[in-house]
Amino acid sequence: MKIAIAGSGALGCGFGYLLQKNGEDVTLLDNWDDHIQAISTNGLRISVNGNEETKDMKICKPNELNEEMDAIFVFTKSMGLKPMMKSIAHIIGKNTKVICLLNGLGHLKTLEAYVEKKNIIMGTTVWTAGIDAPGITHFNGQGPVELQNSDPDEKEAALEIVAILKNSGLNGVYSEDVTYTTWRKACVNGTMNSLCALLDSTIDKVFSSSTIDSMLTGIVSEFSAVAELQDGVTLDVEETVMYLKDLAVKVGAHYPSMHQDLANNRPTEIDYLNGAVAKASIKLGIQAPFCQKVTDLIHAKEDILGISSAVN
Ligand code: NAD
Repeated sequence: MKIAIAGSGALGCGFGYLLQKNGEDVTLLDNWDDHIQAISTNGLRISVNGNEETKDMKICKPNELNEEMDAIFVFTKSMGLKPMMKSIAHIIGKNTKVICLLNGLGHLKTLEAYVEKKNIIMGTTVWTAGIDAPGITHFNGQGPVELQNSDPDEKEAALEIVAILKNSGLNGVYSEDVTYTTWRKACVNGTMNSLCALLDSTIDKVFSSSTIDSMLTGIVSEFSAVAELQDGVTLDVEETVMYLKDLAVKVGAHYPSMHQDLANNRPTEIDYLNGAVAKASIKLGIQAPFCQKVTDLIHAKEDILGISSAVN
């Protein structure tokens, strides 16, 4: 299958590498010159669950690839999705499947402006990845990559992608309700990421603090209310809080990506997590004071650092 990875940073390189290793015809797309130069010259150096390998991979800028793809995995940060979709319009054909595994809320709506719904496959991943230097990345995981067709008639297409992921060692799993999965993952990022970023601490320390219960219940209650009213998704608050606490024990002394974003002077995805819930709550005529405050504080921190992620 001809596959493009639209956004070949941390996660994109990991997926692209394993897909190519499984025999797929993969092209990495990115606009980061040093990264492109490093991979073109030396190959991608990647550590997958601790095993280091170097592989020659095709990489170029989106406007340099001039053929329609069978499938495109989008792997930008949330705020980069729209510009990326504009820049890959020429490689999307009538049957090109576009697979979105980004964290955050609202991406289906963004994709629908550029891709027919029948070709959109939404999902989540719990694999983790990072960039150590241009052309050098690490990729860790074994958990599921859950996905589902957006158009109910297109289950076969989603199952085909699930099979490819499975064969590539990426633990593809068909989700019977990807909207629920997405909201549940958003609860993880909307608590762990934002609180660790604000409190400048690891997940285990934040989740051992004396006020964690009230913070979790406050944030999750607001996610739950918006999920129900906006998407008809039921998130049990008590069960979700328990799930987050269990997960925190498993993850332990880890700084989530939003913490790393601020530490490296990069804009965060807050507007697609707590910010999206706060914004939706206004439209729905309900209150989301926890999410609004968390969003304001993260933006204040970005301002102090001289970076901006605000969505207009
Ligand atoms: P990243 O910043 O490492 O990679 C994004 C890449 O996209 C960058 O290399 C950037 O140069 C490129 N890019 C962005 N806009 C572009 C454009 N218009 N044209 C060309 N290239 C463009 O991000 P990541 O960590 O791989 O995360 C991607 C998504 O996956 C995010 O939503 C993130 O929250 C989610 N996610 C990440 C992890 C993780 O561990 N890294 C885990 C789960 C989910």
